[in-house]
Amino acid sequence: MPHRPWILGCIDCERRYAAEEVRYRCECGATLEVRHDWTTRRALLDLGPSVFDQRRLSREAIDRSGVWRFRELVLPLAGSEVITKPEGNTNLYCSDRLAAYTGSAGLSLKHEGENPTGSFKDRGMTVAISVACALGFARVACASTGNTSASMAAYAAQAGIEAYVFIPEGKIAYGKLAQSLAYGARTIQIEGDFDLAMKLVEEVCRADSIYLVNSLNPYRIEGQKAIGLELLQDLGWRLPDWIVLPGGNLGNSSALLKGLFELREIGWLDRLPRVAVIQAAGANPLYTAFHNRTTLQPLAQAETLATAIKIGNPVSWKKSLRGLLATHGLVEQVSDQEILDAKAQVDAAGIGAEPASCATVAGVRKLIASGTIRPDERVCGILTGHLLKDPDLTIAYHQSTALGVTSNFANPPVRAEASLAGVRRWLRR
Ligand SMILES: *Cc1c(COP(=O)(O)O)cnc(C)c1O
Repeated sequence: MPHRPWILGCIDCERRYAAEEVRYRCECGATLEVRHDWTTRRALLDLGPSVFDQRRLSREAIDRSGVWRFRELVLPLAGSEVITKPEGNTNLYCSDRLAAYTGSAGLSLKHEGENPTGSFKDRGMTVAISVACALGFARVACASTGNTSASMAAYAAQAGIEAYVFIPEGKIAYGKLAQSLAYGARTIQIEGDFDLAMKLVEEVCRADSIYLVNSLNPYRIEGQKAIGLELLQDLGWRLPDWIVLPGGNLGNSSALLKGLFELREIGWLDRLPRVAVIQAAGANPLYTAFHNRTTLQPLAQAETLATAIKIGNPVSWKKSLRGLLATHGLVEQVSDQEILDAKAQVDAAGIGAEPASCATVAGVRKLIASGTIRPDERVCGILTGHLLKDPDLTIAYHQSTALGVTSNFANPPVRAEASLAGVRRWLRR
């Protein structure tokens, strides 16, 4: 790789590494983050956000991308190095139904499930795969609860490189597994949970010179910052009061917070919105650490039907927790019952999202009920994945067969006699 205007810095100690070095962790074991040299981009950044608004009108993929449009803030690669579909440009929805359900009159939802492979993971993946190629790798790998593998498989296929997926056996939503197989990734089901698959893939990548593209990879985080950047652009660069999002491995919340801090660093923001991370009650190690003011204690076993956030030992907990503490942010937890009821509401509003996404909406409802968020505050929630990612759980909910939850808003299919009279009898019911 030619010389780059950034370095990798340890989040815990003073060590720093050149951008050209292949590294995911510091020698001390802590995670790394990209540190930018803004002076190399000052001229453009001094122009302010209007540059990014101009690019939205361009026909070039690199300008249309909701990630690379912000390349001076995300990662300044050369245009020829970028592998983009392009991603982003997701919609921001308002819904009277969801305002009523949550009690948040000022709620809007940015639907990251509208990315090319159906989840926000594409924003980090376009950057990680571009870097993998720039570093000269011909193989990439990840451990995944599903969406990371779907995204990696698609971008690796586009780049013409091999992809290896490590998934926890029997614990992955069907839509996601289908994508991984269809896009041609070599898919390995590990006899164990996500946390074990994660540990294993790190070892394999180190031993076999395969590039690791989990959110441990600091470039994934740089790409995911773009959710916040595009959200602010959607809002005409006016800050909301709150940004609410689900937390699993905690890469996304780390990225959002890093992006906000950087906007303050370059002088574009003088205050920051509050960020609320929502965890599933059965996979809540950040919630516990935040409320007990302790370091994170990994859970031996995570349990939730929202498989995308079923993670007991989140890789990016320190980045996320520090950012939250520095911005007066908070962590809330919601039960599977609350998640699936919120999902039924999001779906019935005509928006639709996968279960983990709807922890956002369940969380907003809970934070309004507790008086933490005021009903008149401007709240932006992130919906992280597409409705069709997990059809089995959606159908189980509507047929009242989802394990351990009551289907409060079930809309089951019915049988009717195959005649006009039979159907009309049903219509009148
Ligand atoms: C990955 C994912 C999450 C969790 O994001 P983290 O960065 O792991 O905290 C939430 N929802 C969906 C749909 C996801 O794919």
